[in-house]
Amino acid sequence: MFTESILIENLRNAGLRLTPQRLAICHLLINNTEHPSAQQIFEHLRPQYPSLSLTTVYNTLEALVGLGAIHNLGNDVSGTIRYDAETTPHANLICTTCNRIIDYHSPHVQTLTDEVKAQSGYQITGARVLYYGLCDECQQKSSSQP
Ligand SMILES: [Zn+2]
Repeated sequence: MFTESILIENLRNAGLRLTPQRLAICHLLINNTEHPSAQQIFEHLRPQYPSLSLTTVYNTLEALVGLGAIHNLGNDVSGTIRYDAETTPHANLICTTCNRIIDYHSPHVQTLTDEVKAQSGYQITGARVLYYGLCDECQQKSSSQP
């Protein structure tokens, strides 16, 4: 499970000051299911926090990634890094047309993680299961075109 208080606890443990801006980033991460980029978070919060900088957003996100509190999903199709606050084992689906990323929960992802852990001997600190394709909406759009 992931909650805002766990993110905040992680920031505190990392020695980062709990500024209103950082707390707002945690709040947004937990309440946003769009797998936002640093830029998207920045644009979303700037009206409320005029002193916020993109660097602060980026550094806060990377600090949380370093602690394993959120995941860096890597680049989307436009080359932008996207973030996921849901860290329980699950897969992500990315649409290569509209760039939408959704969560896909399946018990098999946990089973695979357990198997990799047991067979590799690695201490697994994270995983990224990412499928690429066309979402429902984009499939319909492309098939309705002449
Ligand atoms: Zn799409």
